[in-house]
Amino acid sequence: MKVIKKGLLYLSAIALAVIIMITVNFASKFQLKPQEVYKVYLDGKAIGNIDDKQELEDYINEEQKDLKDKYDVSKVYIPSGVDIQKCTTYEKDVLTAKQVHNIIKEEKPFTVKGYKVTIKPNTEGEDKIVINVLDKEMFDNAIKSVVEAFVDGDDITNFENDTQPEIKDTGSIIEDIYIDQDITIKESYISTDEQIFTDEKTLTKYLLFGEIKEDQYYTVQEGDTIESIAYDHKLATEEFLVVNPEFTSANNLLSVGQQVKVGLINPVVDVVVESHNVIDQESKYKTVTEEDNTLNYGVEKVVQEGQDGVDRLTTKMKVVNGETTNVVIVSSETITPSVDKIVKVGTKIVGGGSGIPAITSGDWVWPTISPYYVSSYFGYRWGKVHEAIDIAGSGEGSPIFAAGAGTVVTARWNGGSLGNYVVINHNNGYYTIYAHMHSLTVTQGQTVQKGQQVGTMGHTGFATGTHLHFGLYRNGMPYRDGIPTDPLILYR
Ligand SMILES: [Zn+2]
Repeated sequence: MKVIKKGLLYLSAIALAVIIMITVNFASKFQLKPQEVYKVYLDGKAIGNIDDKQELEDYINEEQKDLKDKYDVSKVYIPSGVDIQKCTTYEKDVLTAKQVHNIIKEEKPFTVKGYKVTIKPNTEGEDKIVINVLDKEMFDNAIKSVVEAFVDGDDITNFENDTQPEIKDTGSIIEDIYIDQDITIKESYISTDEQIFTDEKTLTKYLLFGEIKEDQYYTVQEGDTIESIAYDHKLATEEFLVVNPEFTSANNLLSVGQQVKVGLINPVVDVVVESHNVIDQESKYKTVTEEDNTLNYGVEKVVQEGQDGVDRLTTKMKVVNGETTNVVIVSSETITPSVDKIVKVGTKIVGGGSGIPAITSGDWVWPTISPYYVSSYFGYRWGKVHEAIDIAGSGEGSPIFAAGAGTVVTARWNGGSLGNYVVINHNNGYYTIYAHMHSLTVTQGQTVQKGQQVGTMGHTGFATGTHLHFGLYRNGMPYRDGIPTDPLILYR
């Protein structure tokens, strides 16, 4: 009984407290005597009362002046829909002019006249990028600077003025330079709450690096070269030159204590250069094995040394942000023919036994037909290792060969980056991988001979153009415990 009574007492105490609170609230909002105030409305909605109209107007003017200075514009637009009316009210609360000014600013920011630049991505699923600028010309200039990061200034001028020198023996003619995104520029009122680019340098940096962050610098030490600094910061040498346009070649001299940029770029736009080129490309010699029944079984005899030749290729190339994404070999002529290496392999069985296959030569064969073009080498690409060479130009559907004899340990489709790919274990510590193939002609577990076709060239998986991604690994499987190795060492 006593307990219940005590409980009731608590309940009534809470009820009383609620009543008092409500009363206090009423009392604080209104007063008995009316007063003269200025009621401030934003889009017809009252946002507060102030004593001094002039003070609020001063705040607004001052804000306008600050923004005019900040953006160097002649006009800053105050939020539309602000209305100040004198009235008599019983409301007690009066805000300061500053408080009301802040409410207005928060609800509806001040605006300046400028341009909204919309960059539509060319990959589906990616968000469009909207950039605010005050000056159209400034944006044009920033785009020009981005292009100049990838294309030599003289080359651009010659392309624009149609004064490119003709190709005598080898060389390049630019056929087109463009940005691969749909960019629209629309005049509009821009909220001063949003980021507005006002200088070309900052905008160029954003377009090139994808974000505005502090530059990453490195101080040159004794013995450094452009190549070694680039490598230490996971950049290809050409990429270092993109980030540091003041250098024109990897052979430029550095001085100890000099600061160089080592940041990675992530361009917001794609600078595309399409070109017509005449290039001399080394053609690897073939090794021809001939059986010889006068030589003892297993004995090899080189009767002619191989010699690499030179093919002169006429190509059409597409380079996006400095990376070759497409190569078409239009024609090719042989400047110096390659000379086959001829190896005689003995088949004479001494003392019986037969049916044992001949031992093949230890040389490796090139995995594509000729002519071809190596469009990307082994090494760093913007912070990641490209663990292979890319061979292009032989065409979609052209045959791909096993670089050496071995066992097919993988022959499958990979929906991610590799597409149709094959891995061969050469049973000597080396593994080779052949990726982005159009089709496969071998199956897992199969034994292959050196030079045997394993598939056809394609662009499956993550490949921007038709090419073979050809990788070499030591002491283990690719992308597992194998050590990525430059495949070109096989042909030296
Ligand atoms: Zn590749």
